[in-house]
Order: sequence, then structure tokens, then C-alpha cells
Amino acid sequence: MAQYGLMIDNEYCTGCHSCEVACKNEHNLPLGQWGIKVLELGPWKLMDGKHWEYRYVPVPTSYCDLCKDRVAEGGKPNCALHCLASAIEYGTLEELAAKMEAKGKMASIFIP
Ligand code: SF4
Ligand code: SF4
Repeated sequence: MAQYGLMIDNEYCTGCHSCEVACKNEHNLPLGQWGIKVLELGPWKLMDGKHWEYRYVPVPTSYCDLCKDRVAEGGKPNCALHCLASAIEYGTLEELAAKMEAKGKMASIFIP
């Protein structure tokens, strides 16, 4: 049976936190509990002295079940649905690996 996951695109994530809210709504998570959390890295100045590194890194937690109820009804995971930057994709590991290879950088795959 195919295994499913999420591909997170760290290059295009804007840090808007919509995925956090969408996931909390989907799973009715109380204050302080998260199904996905957006971490922030930086900023720090690069060694060229001109540019800065700053990244947003969405990280699904142990509550993530890939929105199995929504998906069973034919929907998309709620975080992927509400990500305006299309920085979260859902699919089989084979599909996600192909997308990651095509992208070539700054992406990761999450498997619950
Ligand atoms: S993954 Fe999408 S919804 Fe989540 S913070 Fe990044 S841009 Fe916003
Ligand atoms: S797939 Fe569903 S459970 Fe997992 S992080 Fe996204 S919204 Fe939350």
C-alpha cells in the first residue's frame, strides 16, 4: 500500500502561520497544542557581509495524521488547502520525491 506524506517547501513559505490555524481548527486543538508549528530561523548576516539568511520552517508534530478524515472524504489536508504560497503538498512518497527532485533545493518530506 502506498505511503503518504507532506512535502514542505522552505523556499516559498512566507511564515504566515495559516497552516497552524487550519490544523488547530481541523483537530480542535486547545491553546498551546499544535499539529504543525512554523519555526523561524535567523536573521543572521552571511559571510559576504551583504546578504541575510532568514527562513520559515513549518514542522508537523506528532498530532499530524495527514487529515485522514478529510482525505477519506476526498479533500486535501487542511494545512495544504489554506497555504496561499502552495508551500505544502500532500501525496504519495513517490510523488513527493519526484517533486522534491524537480525542485532541487530547500524542501523536505514529512511522514507521520
Ligand atoms: S507553510 Fe504556507 S500556510 Fe504555513 S506558514 Fe508557510 S506559507 Fe503560511
Ligand atoms: S496534514 Fe492535517 S494534521 Fe497534518 S499538519 Fe496538516 S492540517 Fe495538521
